[in-house]
Amino acid sequence: ASADNGGPTIFDKIIAKEIPSTIVYEDDKVLAFRDINPQAPVHVLVIPKLRDGLTHLGKAELRHAEILGHLLCAAKIVAEKEGIVDGFRVVINNGPEACQSVYHLHLHILGGRQMKWPPG
Ligand code: 5GP
Repeated sequence: ASADNGGPTIFDKIIAKEIPSTIVYEDDKVLAFRDINPQAPVHVLVIPKLRDGLTHLGKAELRHAEILGHLLCAAKIVAEKEGIVDGFRVVINNGPEACQSVYHLHLHILGGRQMKWPPG
């Protein structure tokens, strides 16, 4: 896994639509698109279009409260659109020990199969 160097990530190119992605939901603040390496029948990533220092959740400050809430509301919209409201998981991998690989804050929305707990 890479570390947080504050530099641009692959998600900048996805936001700029310089590399293709399958967009599930988009508004002025967030973008939701299918994970290229899905870990469940539904696996969507929800990201802020403006990273604003949020390489990972460990950088969150009170000024980020609005976008953080917006991301969760978008997660619910994605779950509804994908038909998984009866059971879905929202995951944020934070830092190397949690296997974060892209340093642009993102929510994983996972569903469409029975989930296990603890996740491992
Ligand atoms: P992380 O491991 O940082 O929590 O999650 C990063 C996720 O981004 C991974 O699940 C990985 O499959 C996904 N990903 C990495 N590069 C791309 C890409 O170019 N396109 C898409 N759609 N997903 C990507």
